[in-house]
Amino acid sequence: MKVIVIGSGISGATSAALLAKEGHSVIVYEQHEKIGGITATIEQDGYRWDWGQMIVPDLSDNEPGRLVLEKLGISEKIKTIKGYRENYFPDFRIRKPQKFKGIYWRKEYFKELFPEDAKGIDKYYKIYNRIHDLTGLFNKPGLLAKLKLFLKFLPIMGKKNWSAQQLMDYCFSNKKLQAVFIGILADYVASPEVFPGLIIPIINAESQYDERVPLDYGKHEHRSSWTFIENGCIELINAIVGVITKCGGKIITNMAVSKILIESGKGKGVITSDGKVHEADVVVASGGAKELFLDLIEAKYLPNDFINTYINNLFTTESVFMVHLGVDYDPSVHQNGAALCYYYLTYDINESIKECQKGIYHEGKDGFLVYIPSVHSPNMAPPGHHAVTVYTIAPNNLINGNWEDKKEEWSEKLLDIAEKHVPGLREHTKTKIILTPEDFKNRTYLKHHAFGGTVPHLTIPPPPHKSPIEGLWFVGAQSETYGGVIGGMTGADNVVKMMLKEMNSKTTKQTFKSFSK
Ligand SMILES: Cc1cc2nc3c(=O)[nH]c(=O)nc-3n(C[C@H](O)[C@H](O)[C@H](O)COP(=O)(O)OP(=O)(O)OC[C@H]3O[C@@H](n4cnc5c(N)ncnc54)[C@H](O)[C@@H]3O)c2cc1C
Repeated sequence: MKVIVIGSGISGATSAALLAKEGHSVIVYEQHEKIGGITATIEQDGYRWDWGQMIVPDLSDNEPGRLVLEKLGISEKIKTIKGYRENYFPDFRIRKPQKFKGIYWRKEYFKELFPEDAKGIDKYYKIYNRIHDLTGLFNKPGLLAKLKLFLKFLPIMGKKNWSAQQLMDYCFSNKKLQAVFIGILADYVASPEVFPGLIIPIINAESQYDERVPLDYGKHEHRSSWTFIENGCIELINAIVGVITKCGGKIITNMAVSKILIESGKGKGVITSDGKVHEADVVVASGGAKELFLDLIEAKYLPNDFINTYINNLFTTESVFMVHLGVDYDPSVHQNGAALCYYYLTYDINESIKECQKGIYHEGKDGFLVYIPSVHSPNMAPPGHHAVTVYTIAPNNLINGNWEDKKEEWSEKLLDIAEKHVPGLREHTKTKIILTPEDFKNRTYLKHHAFGGTVPHLTIPPPPHKSPIEGLWFVGAQSETYGGVIGGMTGADNVVKMMLKEMNSKTTKQTFKSFSK
């Protein structure tokens, strides 16, 4: 089968590698001069920073991401380091205790801080355990697992359509405590009114805040690990791309796909930016849903229902404003040695989200994060130096001004605020790169950069992998609910399985037909 893959980010690359390994003829077109999409690494003056991802779930032994690497035969090439993050709020800091105080040290800490909500905290952690058991069971095959899944789900079935805000109001009265659990929604730029409540425990996994929290304990199902990828995500991309080329696949950079050819409802191939036509049996597209279905295809080839449900309503995250610094000191001493710390400077998360959705950039006042990858991967900076990323969420399109004119001023403002928590950043700067939403748009070929892809939403589903056009499959962060790196990999794996199943059933039907003639 001849396959064309659009995009060499984690989802496109994984799809291409899996198909090439199955013996299919694969060609990947990448519009950018470099491979990797948002999983690429930027280098300058001996420092290296990732464009995006910091900490990833599900990449430890027997977890879904690791199983994909094993399938590709590259597991030994990808090393992970158990990670955690600190969270700072204006009145308190959630910092792992020096001596491990057990799985639920955060729960006890919150009870000390918010004694009036002690009962609610217990209620939350009961739901927490149930949800994590459900996720563990969800990944398990077999009838018994399905039965257990159903029985576990029954007691919380009535809460399945709760919003994050409903869950918060059910558990906690104190808005500051609510912010601890819904603060992460700032990343999603999704209001707690529309974000599914039962996803809150998943995105607030206790193991994210202390790498010593065990993943297997008691009668509970396995909890996902959270790790940093040693030497950055480019290691992952390089290993996956190695499989594509080893299996005879090709990657063409600096080559955008500008049209998908359709004949009688079937994808026939693509036209690339040099005007050439390339035929294929199957096209696997990554990137933006609107860009794919409205520009590369055009709505007239698609059912109205599909456009209305998935494309007109598409709900994605916004972008980020990012400053990478190379520094000649160790800034992690100001965050207890943590490679990653989120600094929330407001408790009114919903208000910040609304402002961002309106195109108002908060200029750093609502919060930011500091990520120092060289803490876990010293090779990412010269000896004794560190690579530092300071970033925050930001709207794609500003209601007043444009990113190019504002970027210098806003990088200074962001660093002014960051230095209140991590002193010395500017004094020790040896090199600097500012990335605005415009840079992210160019890197990803999106008109609206969505740093986390589609957002979990109570009523709006992400576009499906199998498109209404025969032979056209959609992978990537805008086809998963909040893709992430591992979501991109496992999503690609699922798509390839579906494609191969479909192909095999067609072959069986054809063979049967020719036998019966
Ligand atoms: C700042 C930031 C922080 C993040 N933090 C985390 C984190 O901590 N953990 C985590 O798991 N995830 C994180 N993510 C999300 C994660 O990185 C993304 O969800 C994932 O990498 C997206 O992969 P993708 O393959 O779907 O898309 P992309 O990486 O965008 O790849 C798509 C590729 O397709 C190419 N392309 C698109 N259209 C065309 C076309 N028509 N022709 C040719 N080429 C085309 C693009 O150039 C691009 O290379 C973060 C992302 C960002 C930006």
